[in-house]
Amino acid sequence: MISLTDDITVLKGVGTKKAEKLAKLGVRTVGDILFLFPRDYEDRSVPVAISELVPGSGSGTLVQGRVISKYKSPYRRGRQISRATITDGQGFLDVVYFNAPYALNGLRTDRDQFFFGRVTENQGRLQMIHPQFADGIEGIVPVYPLTKGITQMELRRYAKTAIQLMTQTDDLVQDRMFGDYMPQRIISEKKLCSLAEALKNIHFPDDQEALNEARKRIIYDELFIMQLGLLMMKRGKSTGAAHTADEKPFTDSLPYPLTNAQARAVSEICRDLSDEMAMNRLLQGDVGSGKTAVAETAMYKVVMSGSQAAFMAPTDLLMKQHYETFKRDFEPFGIKVGYLSGHMKAQEKKQILEGMAAGEIDIVVGTHALIQEGVSFADLGLVITDEQHRFGVNQRMSFSEKGNEPDILVMTATPIPRTLAVIFYGDLDVSVIDELPPGRQEIVTRYYGSERRNAIYHRLVSQLEAGHQAYVVCPLIEDSDMIEARSAVSVCDELKRLYKNVRIMNGDEPGGRQINVELLHGEMKQDEKDEIMTRFAAGKIDVLVSTVVIEVGIDVPNATVMIIENAERFGLAQLHQLRGRVGRGKDQSYCMLILGSQGKIALERAKVLAESSDGFYISERDLDLRGPGEVFGTRQHGIPDTHLADMISHIDIMEEMRGYAMDVLEEDRELAKPENRKLKERVNMLFSENVTMNL
Ligand code: ADP
Ligand code: MG
Repeated sequence: MISLTDDITVLKGVGTKKAEKLAKLGVRTVGDILFLFPRDYEDRSVPVAISELVPGSGSGTLVQGRVISKYKSPYRRGRQISRATITDGQGFLDVVYFNAPYALNGLRTDRDQFFFGRVTENQGRLQMIHPQFADGIEGIVPVYPLTKGITQMELRRYAKTAIQLMTQTDDLVQDRMFGDYMPQRIISEKKLCSLAEALKNIHFPDDQEALNEARKRIIYDELFIMQLGLLMMKRGKSTGAAHTADEKPFTDSLPYPLTNAQARAVSEICRDLSDEMAMNRLLQGDVGSGKTAVAETAMYKVVMSGSQAAFMAPTDLLMKQHYETFKRDFEPFGIKVGYLSGHMKAQEKKQILEGMAAGEIDIVVGTHALIQEGVSFADLGLVITDEQHRFGVNQRMSFSEKGNEPDILVMTATPIPRTLAVIFYGDLDVSVIDELPPGRQEIVTRYYGSERRNAIYHRLVSQLEAGHQAYVVCPLIEDSDMIEARSAVSVCDELKRLYKNVRIMNGDEPGGRQINVELLHGEMKQDEKDEIMTRFAAGKIDVLVSTVVIEVGIDVPNATVMIIENAERFGLAQLHQLRGRVGRGKDQSYCMLILGSQGKIALERAKVLAESSDGFYISERDLDLRGPGEVFGTRQHGIPDTHLADMISHIDIMEEMRGYAMDVLEEDRELAKPENRKLKERVNMLFSENVTMNL
């Protein structure tokens, strides 16, 4: 007797080879098949009259008919044809098989059969090539995601077996495995079918109605379990210090008035800071929207209220840039700013650490070094992380443990539709800066096929002549045998060669000067990178060829051109970020995307970028094009993949399930009660793959 927990190899025809392939689809046990949901269905429930067939239309049609003649050709030059003509009394249709001399053996001349395939036309005759046939009506048939070496027929057979087993297993086992863990309240309020019923019908639904019911149950199921898991990962809301000093002196000191959006974010943040609940807020704002000033205002308020603030940046370079800004802006107020980097001399570091611990330093800017052992604060009141998507959830947690429940502000330039932020950042409140400071110029964005590369680089010269600088971004550092894409090293060499004899007339030398092309990538030493960026910022380098290391934050207003090689290899959000490196000064800027291959999605992405500079719009289109998993690296965020539920289109259900999940956790925070045991198992199962839960 086979059981659902048995290894998949117990099924007939499944050896170790097949098992390996099935494992790729996530199927290891017989029961796993039940959770391999079809990606589509073929409706083989209603036959179409032969006289009404339209050749070439649709992916498949069901025909009922009886065979009236069979023909088998001999092999000729390695090719053999088997053909049968069938009729439904009104019309005729040929079914044709190549190199399958036994194909006709199963065809009956004494009664009707059902044929499913694509209808084509050959010399005026209707035909189906390699149709599948059956003696009865199969109904709605599942179409599974496949992997090489596994066929639809096989998967259908395995699924049938698994479903049979599921319905046959005795009540006790069935209850253990498929008993309903969904709270009865959800089942009745949402009118959901049982899990076992849903699993049966998701594979072999009796009709469309049954399929809809099954899908509904599974979608609610997945989203409910997901919300439970996410909520369980959250820490309870806690109390911290109230920071009540007035922030106005700082905002008044800025050389510009805040935009309305900035002012709104500031007031939301300041409200959080001044009460005793610990703040947990996400600040979203497109590149250049002025998040820094908002962050500074928050830090000012906290420091003036007597506590310290920490600001964490993703790279050394950005950290230093922020350090300079903060020093400039805070010095007039007597606020002491320090920085902490993994690269500083031991003596220097010691001094800073002591200053932080003694409370002499009010604001410290740092990289990951800030969350290391041995870093302590006298009274840490606020933690801000910049470009938070580069830090995992866990790091955020460990950071907040350094203080006595500090307020937390995470900033991101990857705009996320507000509703989704709820999912990805869970309990965080969200502030949005959806407006750019006045006077910004649109960046002219165009895309080209790779045959235009040379023309682009020739045209670049005129921008350089005008005294501007350019970035060229490549997907790879060095050429690779595995990936067909341009590398920074080879593009840099190429450009040096291309520009060797070009002289531009914007220096002091009477005969003009050579164009200075340099390379920057992530495998260089930190000092080297810093040195190059510093020279680029000082205008000593004309063209900086790099990998995505320059993606975040960096601010060189004189750079007006961003050229992206193999743009098809970058995600939309990333392209948008890269583009944000230019257009920071008063001059017209350009972004040119060079497409190495012009697949549909690549073109679509390039078009979106050319049309829009609105980060929110771009991020929504990105979601459409790639799905949330890829866009936000959900795995990285600790969010499991759902199978049927689509987090974007089911956002309403997601929110509804969040409410139910909260209710359940209200009663049983750890899901420790016996009646919630199965629920907890399911949560663990969904979150197990890559995620450690703090249950
Ligand atoms: P980001 O949100 O990308 O971090 P920044 O904070 O670096 O953006 O701001 C980008 C630029 O805009 C900076 O040079 C900053 O001085 C300027 N800026 C910020 N807020 C305003 C404002 N309200 N009016 C004019 N310029 C502003
Ligand atoms: Mg910034």
